[in-house]
Amino acid sequence: MSGIYVHIPFCKSKCAYCNFFSVVSDKGRDAFLAALKREAVQRRNYLGGEAVRTVYFGGGTPSLLKPSEIAGILEVLRLNYDIIDSPEVTLEANPDTVSKESLLDYKSMGINRLSIGIQSFFDDDLQYLSRKHDSKHAMRVLDWASEVGFQEITLDLIYGIPTLTDEKWNRNIDIFLSTGFNHLSAYALTVEEKTALGQRISKGLAAAVNEDNTIRHYEILTSRAADAGFEHYEISNFARPGHQSKHNTIYWKGEKYLGLGPSAHSFDGSSRQWNVAGVKDYCDNYSFEREELTLDDRYNEYVMTSLRTNWGCDLGFVRDSFGEKYAEKFEKGVQKHILSGKMLEKDRNFILNDSGMLFADGIAAELFM
Ligand code: SF4
Repeated sequence: MSGIYVHIPFCKSKCAYCNFFSVVSDKGRDAFLAALKREAVQRRNYLGGEAVRTVYFGGGTPSLLKPSEIAGILEVLRLNYDIIDSPEVTLEANPDTVSKESLLDYKSMGINRLSIGIQSFFDDDLQYLSRKHDSKHAMRVLDWASEVGFQEITLDLIYGIPTLTDEKWNRNIDIFLSTGFNHLSAYALTVEEKTALGQRISKGLAAAVNEDNTIRHYEILTSRAADAGFEHYEISNFARPGHQSKHNTIYWKGEKYLGLGPSAHSFDGSSRQWNVAGVKDYCDNYSFEREELTLDDRYNEYVMTSLRTNWGCDLGFVRDSFGEKYAEKFEKGVQKHILSGKMLEKDRNFILNDSGMLFADGIAAELFM
C-alpha cells in the first residue's frame, strides 16, 4: 500500500513563523493545475503499481482551491493510479478560506478527512503568529465541519507561543476535547532565523520562545490527552483508537509515497526525490533531484522515524533488514536510555515514553550509523 501527497503552494499571506514552501500570489494558478495533472500522468508508474490507500492535499493552503479544482485533480489521480475503494482523502484547510458551502462541496466530491489549521483559539496568539483568521471564525468553522458531516476531523494547534499561558493552553485543549473530534496534531513553535518571526525576535520586536514553557505545555498536553483516552502515537500526533492518520503513518512506517507539485518529496522504497520548488520552474521546466539511499541512510531514517512513534523501533526488523552490525549498535546504544527511564522495551521493541519523546531526535542521532 502507498500514498499520494499533492502540494498546493498558494497562501493568502505568509505567516510569520512559516518555513514551508508557499507563495502568496496565485498568479499562474491555471498553469499550475495543468502542470500538476501533467506530472500525475507522467509519473503514474512511480509507485510500481502498488495500490494507493491515501491521498493528502497539503500546502500551502489547499483550501484556496475551489472544490471543482480539487475534484479535477482527484479525477486525474483516479484515472492513473490504482486507488483502493475507500481511500483516506485529506484536505488541509485554513479557517479564513472556507465557508459552510465549500466544506459541503469538498465532502461531496470525495474529501473524507479535514485537517483544520486552528493553531490557537486566542486572538493574541494568532496575531503573534500572524495568522489571518480570528478565534470567533475558527469556532464557526469547527461547527460547519461537523454540521456538513465530516467524520474524520483533525485540528492543528501550536504550543510554546510566548503569548500562550498555561491557562490558555489548557483552555485550547478544553475546546478541542469539547468538539468530540478524534485527532489532534500539536506542534511546538520553532523559530527559524530567516523567517519574519525570527527576524522580529532578533531585533527585539517580538518575545522569544521560552523552552521551559514549551516543555511544560508538552507535559500538560500529553497528560491531558492520555486522561481523555487519546493515544500519543507520534511525537506531535494524538488520536482516539482507530483514528490515526493513515497517510502520515505511511511516512513513519517507511512505505512508498508519491509527492506531486512544487517542492514535493517522493519515496519509492530505495530512493528519495524532490521536485523543483519555484512554481514557475515547476510549470515551465519540471525537474527534480534524486538521492539513492545507502543501507546506513535507510537504517538511520528507520531509527529516526520509529523512535518518534509509540510502536517504536523493532530490533528484529533492524537485524533482518540491515544486519547484525546495525542491531548490535542499536541494542548497545539504547541501554542507557532504558536505565534513565526514557525508554522501555516491549517484545524487543524499543519505545520512548512521553518524556523520552522530547529527546527523540538527539537519542536517534546517537544511534545513527
Ligand atoms: S498558511 Fe501554512 S503554509 Fe501558508 S504561510 Fe501560513 S503556515 Fe505557511
